[in-house]
Amino acid sequence: MPVEFLNHKGLFLLMRIKMNENSVNWHSWQWQVSNSIFSTRQLKMLLGDSPWAELPQKVEKIYPVKITPYYLSLVDPDDPNDPIARQSFPDIEEIETEVVQDSSEDPLNEHEHMVLPGLIHRYPDRVLLLAAHECAVRCRHCNRKRTWRRPEAIRNMEQIDEVCRYLREHPDIREVILSGGDPLMLPLEFLEQMLRKIKEVSSVEVIRIGTRVPVTLPMKITEGLVDLLKRYRPLWVNTHFNHPLEITKWSRRACEMLLCAGIPVSNQTVLLKGVNDRTAVLKELFTTLQAMMVRPYYLFQCDKVMGTDHFRVPLSIGIEIMEDLWCKIGGLCMPKFVVDLPEGGGKALTMPRHLLAIHEGEAIFRTLEGRKVRYLEPAGSD
Ligand SMILES: *Cc1c(COP(=O)(O)O)cnc(C)c1O
Ligand code: SF4
Repeated sequence: MPVEFLNHKGLFLLMRIKMNENSVNWHSWQWQVSNSIFSTRQLKMLLGDSPWAELPQKVEKIYPVKITPYYLSLVDPDDPNDPIARQSFPDIEEIETEVVQDSSEDPLNEHEHMVLPGLIHRYPDRVLLLAAHECAVRCRHCNRKRTWRRPEAIRNMEQIDEVCRYLREHPDIREVILSGGDPLMLPLEFLEQMLRKIKEVSSVEVIRIGTRVPVTLPMKITEGLVDLLKRYRPLWVNTHFNHPLEITKWSRRACEMLLCAGIPVSNQTVLLKGVNDRTAVLKELFTTLQAMMVRPYYLFQCDKVMGTDHFRVPLSIGIEIMEDLWCKIGGLCMPKFVVDLPEGGGKALTMPRHLLAIHEGEAIFRTLEGRKVRYLEPAGSD
């Protein structure tokens, strides 16, 4: 029975949806998709007298709402600081900060590096393909919010052929990253054809899929999908957990299925105000992910994207958290803290500073405990 997967709040929601248990096919991703929440009105109705029910109506006109029943069931409607709600419920700040801040729709200048529709070639050896338009849940902090109303993703096989032609003309490209949108929301035949065509380009060594499906719609990771993906190895899946509450038996199972098929799973987290901007939260997230064999890869500073400004925290908070965690949790739990620079500057590492000075064959380091330690360079260096 699906009910066993619902907490009491989820059940409460279920009642409001006026569904009976028998009509709920919780483990079916098709059911999840067709029963997703698509409007603020619907969301308000489900929330009843929860503190979250005061949702603004006008945000969805600019930034639509989309939440799977599964992801919604993780929300504790009585918690006004609920991190799942904050990531998925419309917030008036999305449209208000837009006016006062100088945030841009495309601060990373993806358009400037778009060599073909949907194909971004920013770094020498890898390209990012906007392979899909849809996502299971519209994350309020999405850094490609601009594409929600104006899709930029490729749509047909002809475009994929063009992409493959570009790849053949640029044999230095050894990795193709499928992003979007969420490539795992594509119809399987389309996904398969795309993977096959890309794989046929002999200079492409690795395919990476960026997907939030394991977090927002984990039942989409089916045996059929995993069988398909594993035929295109070496293939990496990079997912997007932001909070320990997103780790459930469902999301664990999704990651486990991928891992058991020989598909490594890594994770990128976005540092988000009011969601995960505390050491204890990120410590639990990173260590739990490592225990699931999902490697924390990047912690991203939230980009200066229009409609997400209320999620940004000062860089110093991220650095402080990384400092707090450094060496206290294992290196395999530690992501790199990265800022994707404005004006298309690319990714920049932002880490605590342990090397204080280096001069005339001598380096001064700061230890974990704050002590200074001298390190002598090999003789003859300066
Ligand atoms: C982030 C990004 C990549 C991938 O970079 P990695 O450091 O390999 O994760 C590739 N292309 C673009 C345009 C990107 O923004
Ligand atoms: S899953 Fe990724 S691309 Fe889709 S809305 Fe969320 S952050 Fe944006």
